[in-house]
Amino acid sequence: MASIDLHFHSRASDGALSPTEVIRRAHGRSASLVALTDHDCLTGLAEARAEARALALPFLNGVEVSVSWGVKAQTVHIVGLGFDSDDPVLLAGLDAVRQGRIERAREMAAQLARVGIDGAFEGAMAVCDNPEQVSRTHFARFLVEQGHVKDVRTVFRKYLTPGKPGYVPHHWAALADAVGWIVGAGGVAVIAHPGRYDLGRTLTERLINEFKAAGGEGIEVASGSHSLDDLHKYALIAQRYDLWSSAGSDFHAPGEGGRDVGVTDDLPPICRPVWELLADRVQA
Ligand code: AMP
Ligand code: MN
Ligand code: MN
Ligand code: MN
Repeated sequence: MASIDLHFHSRASDGALSPTEVIRRAHGRSASLVALTDHDCLTGLAEARAEARALALPFLNGVEVSVSWGVKAQTVHIVGLGFDSDDPVLLAGLDAVRQGRIERAREMAAQLARVGIDGAFEGAMAVCDNPEQVSRTHFARFLVEQGHVKDVRTVFRKYLTPGKPGYVPHHWAALADAVGWIVGAGGVAVIAHPGRYDLGRTLTERLINEFKAAGGEGIEVASGSHSLDDLHKYALIAQRYDLWSSAGSDFHAPGEGGRDVGVTDDLPPICRPVWELLADRVQA
């Protein structure tokens, strides 16, 4: 296992721990390089960076941008690493991506009410620090807390995914914009958890080509949402498309399933680790 984790969340978006707590947890699990990558916001970075510095834990700025891609407007996530967190174009872009989450949450709650689940808007907001960051994860936590469903994973299966009550499609950033903001701010763009998209061979190739044309350079090979087969599959894809390989747990909360923070699978030896590209942007 590698002690590098370049993808996880805090309460600034849909994680359950504060930036300080999640950095402490990563440090406690012997992490040697971390990046906090909250969804569509940089709010947690200053606090996380300060805690990492206090613990002498090397730190990279991070973000996970929500994108709608392709003719079906499928959701794809792009991780940004090592950018300038004061870059005005990046900040304005993320601001625009966050717009509409509250309206979407109202619509989600209306759909859930039709299947007998009341008060979901207020319930999700009650477990969310920042209203404009309200996400499906906050709804999932509310549904579990209320005893409607036994765990977060089951909520997504029964309620919050396409075709199920409570799923409201949303229009996120364009791929070229998200990559452009990250690269323009001096960062490296990485395709997050490619194993989750169910794109097939042709669309995967198209996504990677468009991503590279926009200036994207990396792909997550080791991910908390990847199986061992995915790890090897995406290592080969990284090699074939000449992409740098990243590693991230995608940790959100203790006990919510998936990998804990701070530790990821070793990259297969054919990979070029993205942290070699980012060495000059690490804040120690
Ligand atoms: P949103 O940005 O509001 O659409 O919420 C997306 C978030 O929901 C992701 O970042 C994950 O944290 C979570 N999520 C999506 N699908 C699942 C799933 N199948 N199981 C658990 N969490 C999920
Ligand atoms: Mn999330
Ligand atoms: Mn994601
Ligand atoms: Mn994530």
